[in-house]
Amino acid sequence: MAGFSHMTGTYDPQNIFARILRDEIPCKVFFESRHSLAFYDISPAAPMHLLVIPRGAYRNIYEFTQQASAEEILDFWQSVNIVAEKAGLTSAGFRLIANTGPDSGQEVPHFHVHLLGGAALGPLLPRT
Ligand code: AMP
Repeated sequence: MAGFSHMTGTYDPQNIFARILRDEIPCKVFFESRHSLAFYDISPAAPMHLLVIPRGAYRNIYEFTQQASAEEILDFWQSVNIVAEKAGLTSAGFRLIANTGPDSGQEVPHFHVHLLGGAALGPLLPRT
């Protein structure tokens, strides 16, 4: 995203996940908790591809870990576990990805974890 830095700048309240959280645009909700929301990725990269986000305004894992309350952090990671269980992925396994900053290709500047599964996912990244 142009101008986005994970070290400087401020949270963009118009990012797409902020708009989802304000119910300005729809999403397919999978799970909700007090501080977190899980929904289906609009462009799935695996048979099961969910996004888990905190409701709070944090751009990335640094901000989330440094600025969120202990209650929000606990709620978030418990939600990730619940989502994996609810999706039936705990036996076969799954992958979590948290893109952070420009080199990762992070598109949406609101902290999120991708939860991917439902098939053998192959190597983590193509080898260069
Ligand atoms: P990242 O590159 O880690 O920022 O991932 C952003 C993810 O958000 C991508 O996998 C997109 O497919 C997904 N995405 C973008 N817009 C929406 C939307 N409106 N609803 C659900 N997922 C979305």
